[in-house]
Amino acid sequence: MAGCSRFAPSTTGQAHPGTLLAGLLCWLDGRQRGARVLLRLEDLDRTRVERGFVDDMVAALSWFGLDWDEVHVQSERRAGHEAALDALAAAGRLYPCRCSRKQRRAHGRRAPDGGFAYANTCRDRRLPAAGWRAVDEALRVRLDDDQVSVIDDSGLDLSQVPAYDMGDPIVRRRDGVFAYHLAVVVDDAAAGVTRVVRGRDLAASTATQVALQRLLGLATPSYRHHLLLLEPQGDKLAKFHGSVGVDTLRQHYTSAALCGLLAHAAGLIDEPAPCAPRALLADFDWSRVGAVDRVLAWRAPTLVLAP
Ligand code: GLU
Repeated sequence: MAGCSRFAPSTTGQAHPGTLLAGLLCWLDGRQRGARVLLRLEDLDRTRVERGFVDDMVAALSWFGLDWDEVHVQSERRAGHEAALDALAAAGRLYPCRCSRKQRRAHGRRAPDGGFAYANTCRDRRLPAAGWRAVDEALRVRLDDDQVSVIDDSGLDLSQVPAYDMGDPIVRRRDGVFAYHLAVVVDDAAAGVTRVVRGRDLAASTATQVALQRLLGLATPSYRHHLLLLEPQGDKLAKFHGSVGVDTLRQHYTSAALCGLLAHAAGLIDEPAPCAPRALLADFDWSRVGAVDRVLAWRAPTLVLAP
């Protein structure tokens, strides 16, 4: 068996073309390797996840033609996330942070992900004697100040000094929600994930996640980051998000027509001819997948791919 791969969409809204393309590339990569392929629904953000979003995501991906060996729901993994915080607290790595987003902005140093780096202002603060559960502020992890060297399978150099370039990561938010970096690292390891295929918008997170894996004594999977679909918004290109969801697309496209269009956008097929994901397996090869993001516009009732 060639390892374990996972697709891990956040269920903060409907699946959109960007979700489907990311799912397709991850599925093709995993299936072609004969890996165990998991779907993990990332539903921790209580402020954005609504009832039904998890089921809708599963249904949308199934309609599109993707199948999974296992389906995991992240909010059911709470005990694993708590145990990781216990371990980090025992190692003296956890600290409370009261800095606001405004304070981070005021500091002004840009991070590789386009946000603002955290200046580790609260690093010297200690947990109370009652432990991390008694803290009602955000919790961060003090990372080592070393360089983390990572080159992903597409050749992207993702090396950083994450403690400086990004700043110590939040692992539990002020509202009590376990944060993305912690949950992703803990859940990947618990499921035995050996391969992470995801969009390039997450590439800058990789070094922080590898640093966390090292602190927790977890194995590092191999990574591959792929192109994104962008939507034109005036002159600004935004990650394809929310402007058209699967509910609308299903009224105008068959799953095969949509799959053909997205596979064509990614460079997998020369013409946007209808096809099922399974039909793309035999010829799937990352060397065919474009390196450059593509612009896709929703001009109801059609998705238009910019040349
Ligand atoms: N849930 C994250 C997202 O949808 C992806 C997590 C990951 O692949 O690491 O953006």
